Amino acid sequence: MSDPQIVYLNGEFTPIEEARVPVLDRGFIFGDGVYEVVPVYGRQPFRWSQHYTRLERSLGRLRIDNPFDADGWRGLVDALIARHPWDDQFIYLQVTRGVARRDHAFPKGVTPTVFGMSSALPRVPAEQLARGVSAVSLPDERWLNCDIKSTSLLGNVLARQSAIDAGAAECVMYRDGFLTEGSSSNIWVVRDARVLAPPRDRLILEGIRYGLLQELCESQGLPFEMRPISRAEVESADELMLSSATKEVLAISRLDGRPVGSGEPGPVFARLHAAYQQAKATSASTAPRASR
Ligand code: PMP
Repeated sequence: MSDPQIVYLNGEFTPIEEARVPVLDRGFIFGDGVYEVVPVYGRQPFRWSQHYTRLERSLGRLRIDNPFDADGWRGLVDALIARHPWDDQFIYLQVTRGVARRDHAFPKGVTPTVFGMSSALPRVPAEQLARGVSAVSLPDERWLNCDIKSTSLLGNVLARQSAIDAGAAECVMYRDGFLTEGSSSNIWVVRDARVLAPPRDRLILEGIRYGLLQELCESQGLPFEMRPISRAEVESADELMLSSATKEVLAISRLDGRPVGSGEPGPVFARLHAAYQQAKATSASTAPRASR
């Protein structure tokens, strides 16, 4: 039997099977909410302050009152970790605008719905690390506020399904001929030993690994450039990579059925992956905070 999952919903901790939200919750009716996914290594949330800052920013963009302060959120994350037996977990946090009679306009005086859960963090399969994954190119048909980590994910859901239908793990999306991101990951391009990433603007979600990989490039002495990247540059890249909370950093070794570079995970991937593992180990070994 798998370990029981205890979730947090509006002030209560309950078994996941018993947690309920009213049908008029605006998360259910409109997808009117935001979320975060925080990896936990050795029972320590990884890059927590960056995740919290992004959550605060997403709430602010949707004009949803932040239900907790920074300590309150951290307390919730720590409580979820403590209730589960796994050393490596991932925490899912979601806030919706709340429950109200159905009307597009913001309701007055509603209390946001707050949900938190933890799951065992699946290991990235060794085969994917060794061989890389395949991806397909797709037009980016999402809205123009992709920097908000919103639960309205239909564009991402359809894009991911198109990738799966084509036998690939992820998609690489373009808007007006320039790279944006994957359905649930940021995409990295290596050309001439330089790591390229698309600008941090409203057309992509700035992953917490975006800042992290930028730091790792700096510490590894890898030149890093943030700029618009054309489709032709992606298609003739030496290496492609994706990053996300649960996939960490992975090589994309085939794009649209063709090999990327050598067709094997490349040397820049190997360096960034090793540096990433080091960053995780350092975070996991930090002593629990004495105070908040
Ligand atoms: N872009 C999109 C669209 C995502 O959904 C995600 C994460 N799931 C990312 C990028 C990567 O963000 P992070 O590194 O914070 O997981």
